[in-house]
Amino acid sequence: MIQARDRLARPLGDLRISVTDRCNLRCGYCMPSEVFGPGFAYTPADRMLSFDEIARLCRVFAQAGVRRVRLTGGEPLLRPHLELLVAMLADIEDIDEVALTTNGTMLAARAQALAAAGLSRVTVSLDALRADVLAAMSGREFPLARVLAGITAAADAGLGPVKVNMVVRRGVNDHCVLEMAEFFRGRSEIVRFIEFMDVGATNGWQPADVVTAAEIREQLDRRWGLEPLAPSRAGEVATRWRYADGAGEIGFIHSVSEPFCGQCSRARLSADGALYTCLFATSGTDLRGPLRAGATDAELVQLIGRVWSNRTDRYSAERATEARSTMPSTAAPKVEMSYIGG
Ligand code: SAM
Ligand code: SF4
Ligand code: SF4
Repeated sequence: MIQARDRLARPLGDLRISVTDRCNLRCGYCMPSEVFGPGFAYTPADRMLSFDEIARLCRVFAQAGVRRVRLTGGEPLLRPHLELLVAMLADIEDIDEVALTTNGTMLAARAQALAAAGLSRVTVSLDALRADVLAAMSGREFPLARVLAGITAAADAGLGPVKVNMVVRRGVNDHCVLEMAEFFRGRSEIVRFIEFMDVGATNGWQPADVVTAAEIREQLDRRWGLEPLAPSRAGEVATRWRYADGAGEIGFIHSVSEPFCGQCSRARLSADGALYTCLFATSGTDLRGPLRAGATDAELVQLIGRVWSNRTDRYSAERATEARSTMPSTAAPKVEMSYIGG
C-alpha cells in the first residue's frame, strides 16, 4: 500500500466512478438537451469498463490510498444490476465506504437491494418541489412523487441520513430555496445547497447565474436561525450547519465562492476507464488500455501513483483568484461532468 500525495501534498483518498455517461434527465446545468440530443455519441459498449474491470481498478486504487468510493454518472441506476458492482466494491479490503449519487427517479424499487449489497449512503439530487421549476431545471417532465418515494425508501433501507442536493441557479429555482428547506426540516434528510458550477463546456455558465452559499445561508438564517457545525471529517466538501430550533442539519457546497481545492483528495474514473484528477480537467489518463493489455496490479498502482504525484489541479481556487470566470473558454474544452462523474 502506498499513500499517493500530489504536488500540493494532498493525499489520494476518494474515487468517483462514472458507471455510465447516459442519463434519463437533461438538467440544463449538466446535460442540456440541445447538446445531448438523440444523435449524441455516448461511450460505446465495448469501451465501457465492465464490473470486473471497475472492481479490479478499485482494488488498485485502494492500494494507492483510496478509502471511499462514490458511484455516479450520468445516472448510475441506468446501469443494469448495479447492485452486483456495489457488492464487489464493498468487499474490497481497505474500501471503507461505497456511496451513490443518483437523480432518484429509479431508486424506490432498488434501495433495499442496494443496501443489502453493502451500499453505505445515498445522495439524491432534487432541485425544487414545484412541477414547473423541476421541468425547467431537469429538461424533462420530472417524476417528483417517484423521487420522494426513492428518498423515503433509501432512508427505510438504512441508507441514511440521505443527502438531498439542490443546485441553485439564479432566476430559475432560487425562489424555491426556503420551501425546499421547509419541506425537509424536521426530517432525517440533509439538504445541501450547491452553487452552480462552470463544469464542462456546454451549460452556458455565467458568473451572474451563481447564487452564493452566503446568500442562501443568510436567507435561511433570517428565517430560522442557523448554527455552524464542525466538519464530520477532513476534506469534506460541504460546510455543515444546523437549525437553531433543533429541526436538523443542512449543508452548503460553495465550490465557486469559497473553493476547497486545498483539501481536494478526489480522483475520478470515467465510464471508459480514464483517470481524471480534477472535475474541470481537459484530459485524462487512460487506464483501460493498460488494464486490457495485461498490466499487473503493481504496474497499475505505479501508473496511478505517478499521475497523482504530478497533480497540480486547483481550478476553482484559480478561478476565484485570477478572475478565471471572465476568461473565454480555452482551446481544449473541459470534459463533461456526466462523463467523468459528478
Ligand atoms: N445523475 C446523478 C444525479 O443527478 O445525482 C449523478 C450524476 S450528477 C452529474 C452529480 C451531481 O452533480 C448532482 O447532484 C448534480 O446536481 C451535480 N451537478 C451537475 N452539474 C452541475 C453544475 N453545473 N453545477 C453544480 N452541480 C452540478
Ligand atoms: Fe442527469 Fe444527474 Fe446530470 Fe441531471 S445532474 S442531467 S440527473 S447526470
Ligand atoms: Fe478538486 Fe479540481 Fe474541484 Fe479544486 S476544482 S476542488 S482540485 S475537483
